[in-house]
Amino acid sequence: MTKVDPSSASDPVGEALASNAPGSHDHLELVLQHLPANVWTTDHNFRVTSCLGGGLASVGVDATNLIGASLEERLLGHPRHDEIISLHRRAMEGETLVFESKWSDRALYVRMQPLRDAMGKTIGCIGMTFDITDQKRAEKRYRELFERNLAGVFRSTVSGNLLECNEAFVQMFGYSSPQAMMTELNVSSNTRQLYWSTSDRDDVIDSLRKRGELRNFEIRLRTCDGRMVWGLLNETLVPNEGDDILEGTIIDITARKLAEQRIEYQTFHDALTDLPNRFLFNDRLRVALAHARRHRGSVAVMFLDLDHFKLINDTMAHSAGDELLRSVSERLSACIRPEDTVARLGGDEFVFIFSDIHQTAASATIAQKIIDAIRRPFVIHGRELYMTASIGIAVAPHDGNDAETLVKNADSAMFRAKEAGRDNFQFHTHAAQLRAETRLTTETALRHALDRQEFFLVYQPQVEIDSGKITGFEALLRWQRPGHGVIAPDDFIPLAEETGAIVAVGEWVLRSACAQLQEWQRLQPDLRMAINISPRQFQQDDLTRIVEDALEEHDLDPSTIEIEITESLSMGESDLTIGRLSHFRSIGLRIALDDFGTGYSSLGRLRYLPIDSIKIDRTFVADLREHGPEHRIVQAIITMARSLDLRVIAEGVETEDQQTILQNLGCNELQGFIFSKPLPRDEATLLLM
Ligand code: C2E
Ligand code: MG
Ligand code: MG
Repeated sequence: MTKVDPSSASDPVGEALASNAPGSHDHLELVLQHLPANVWTTDHNFRVTSCLGGGLASVGVDATNLIGASLEERLLGHPRHDEIISLHRRAMEGETLVFESKWSDRALYVRMQPLRDAMGKTIGCIGMTFDITDQKRAEKRYRELFERNLAGVFRSTVSGNLLECNEAFVQMFGYSSPQAMMTELNVSSNTRQLYWSTSDRDDVIDSLRKRGELRNFEIRLRTCDGRMVWGLLNETLVPNEGDDILEGTIIDITARKLAEQRIEYQTFHDALTDLPNRFLFNDRLRVALAHARRHRGSVAVMFLDLDHFKLINDTMAHSAGDELLRSVSERLSACIRPEDTVARLGGDEFVFIFSDIHQTAASATIAQKIIDAIRRPFVIHGRELYMTASIGIAVAPHDGNDAETLVKNADSAMFRAKEAGRDNFQFHTHAAQLRAETRLTTETALRHALDRQEFFLVYQPQVEIDSGKITGFEALLRWQRPGHGVIAPDDFIPLAEETGAIVAVGEWVLRSACAQLQEWQRLQPDLRMAINISPRQFQQDDLTRIVEDALEEHDLDPSTIEIEITESLSMGESDLTIGRLSHFRSIGLRIALDDFGTGYSSLGRLRYLPIDSIKIDRTFVADLREHGPEHRIVQAIITMARSLDLRVIAEGVETEDQQTILQNLGCNELQGFIFSKPLPRDEATLLLM
């Protein structure tokens, strides 16, 4: 704004104002003449009684000329005669009128109201006119800028009501017109549904609240037919009482985004097979190694090379080689879990990453699975083809701590697999190779052990502490493995659990123990048999049927069979466990909680478990001495068991001292003592005679 200096000689207004005393008639006259508006009055006959101000000059009307003129006469024949007269009439009748109007090409703001004398009587009407043409033109220009903008322009409330938007905005979302879009959105669920996901919307609102504006923010949006589009958003938050306003522009950048994604995908994937390529492999391996370091885990890297692949390329069309590689990659992908990686390094070389491999042996199982998958025939160009592969395995941290070393070591192990006659896998280190082979041979031997009748049971007597009477036996499994002697359950049951072999083996144990009990009950009718059930076996669907069949087949009173479950199982899948245990009890079986004290039993839960007895683990009994810590633990266990009405059996009682202490503490039964080793069948029979 330029300031007017009243003393400046080149400024006639300033000069005039200075020469007329403020407040004088001349002074007022001067002010009114320069008023950029007009104030006028008319009387009852629509005669102009005064007209002050210079505003009408822009419309080409000389204000002084109007005084005394009757509007009715002056405007006779003018197309707006009736309208103007009627407006005056309404004002004189008491209305205050505010409106925009036009005179020739000028836009006017008009305000009219009744003119009253000192008594309050209406004597005419007083009006004010203001030329707003320039303002109107600017508004129109902005409006056009809004409507014709190639970017989508919009205003909405923060709570989600769309207030205004242009054609480009509407097109981006696929609606037919701004009006249709606003109606549809604001009636249904409002602008929230334009965001692809809630987190997209939350991100925008969060940033706006923090910074007041968003610049070039890439966001995913949803069109009216549910497609996802990418938008580049520029937005400002305008504070507004009640509901803040969002104003912004948005540009569709979907094409650019898709191109970027395509390029990124191509950078990290193999064009032939779509598998991750070397870059992505290295990246993922680095991440897996870092994760393993933090969690003290391990990562296995496998290097696979197809055997004699060159032959295919040489003897068949090149496209056959390509097709084979694609089929191979599909099979390889199917062998691994989603969290593992298989990548193609080029040619017929593939690499794998397996995280969280806890045992070297587990990678051997996977490698064997992959080798078996490749052995199945391929059909390429209508011909059946047989392939094999050689695999090398390196496991971090043992065989290397960085990606490069691991791949190198897996690669050299792969070469040894080739040397060893192809179609096999080799570990980088000899020890690992040995462990893996041992596990695989044990696994195979275990699979055949049942058919070859290599299992047998031994029996450990359970003795009533007060009377010394034998109340029953616990059946314990042994494996007579050819070339290895008798193997204890702790050395093969975990593997049998892992491979699922335990289900069949467990069924054999159950039937054999029941058959033995039937025989022994001829010597002692109330004799009991305790049978161990492993967690995996317990989850088996037809376990109930198998138990019921065995009872019936051997004509046994269910109350003479005691099922031993482990503490970890009892804490596992609660509904299934409790349901199954309750069923067993309802048919009369007894249930014992084995290894008590070694797991994480919740005493609170123990209350709800349908069990009859608990077995104190032998680790507590071994160190049992008067006043020792084990003494207090065993005392606590027995007190608790009694309060829950449970029988207590102590395992591994080997000395008379232990027996006395347990008897004094109120323990019911002992397992062990003179019979610290379980007995073969015939020796156990002698005890009953
Ligand atoms: P468990 O059920 O707690 O069996 C008790 C184990 O403690 C047996 O070892 C038994 O020989 C041993 N033991 C008992 N008293 C004494 C003692 O006074 N001194 C010593 N040194 N040892 C004593 P075993 O037979 O090696 O069985 C180990 C575990 O294998 C068993 O623990 C059980 O969890 C599992 N198991 C054994 N047989 C079977 C079976 O048929 N099925 C299933 N699922 N698991 C079985
Ligand atoms: Mg047991
Ligand atoms: Mg036990």
